[in-house]
Amino acid sequence: MAPDAEAGRRSANHLEIKYPRECSLDAPARRKKMSVSYETIECERCGYAETSLVTAGKFVWSDGSEEYWFSRQLAVCKNCECVVAMEAFPEPAVLDEARKRLGSYWRKLTRNYGVDDVGMMARSKGLAVAEKVIALQRKPVCLSCGSANVAPLVTLDDGGSDDTPIRSLGIQHPGCGGMLTIYGSGGDRAAPLEVTRIYDLHGKQIGTRPGW
Ligand SMILES: [Zn+2]
Ligand SMILES: [Zn+2]
Repeated sequence: MAPDAEAGRRSANHLEIKYPRECSLDAPARRKKMSVSYETIECERCGYAETSLVTAGKFVWSDGSEEYWFSRQLAVCKNCECVVAMEAFPEPAVLDEARKRLGSYWRKLTRNYGVDDVGMMARSKGLAVAEKVIALQRKPVCLSCGSANVAPLVTLDDGGSDDTPIRSLGIQHPGCGGMLTIYGSGGDRAAPLEVTRIYDLHGKQIGTRPGW
């Protein structure tokens, strides 16, 4: 056997022994639950408090056969009088363009839909479901009660996470009138519930299931 082949065999054997061991060392790290920093929103008057973790988990629209994983945002619902998750619609222009790319023979052949928002959209499942929601031309709703009487919270320019001090959000706690404040978790992290919430095309919750 040529010296090169012999060396190759040795390193292959070496890999065979080493690889499973490295895998098992890595496994606990991969199994570790995802944890995130979060913000707490609190009312100055009544002490009501909720965290940004209300938006955690997976939210999908279902038309009965397919599902589309949609975005959500932190909001205040006047009907719930609570901090809630609210639908965030995909941009109709992005949806249109994604549909065009999916119809392109060349892109289908090369499986190249692009790496921009449109490309991401083209690769997402259940695009037809998102299109059905947009076609309804309805307002985004509260994902707790389904009311459109809901307003998104301002996005904090500093990202809001770890060490942000307490400050006013400039909006009132509905039904109470106290000012809402927000502050970061200060390095504390929480593992969000791994749950998928299922909604119909009108944003009404029709079920949940464990896992993402
Ligand atoms: Zn209050
Ligand atoms: Zn609500």
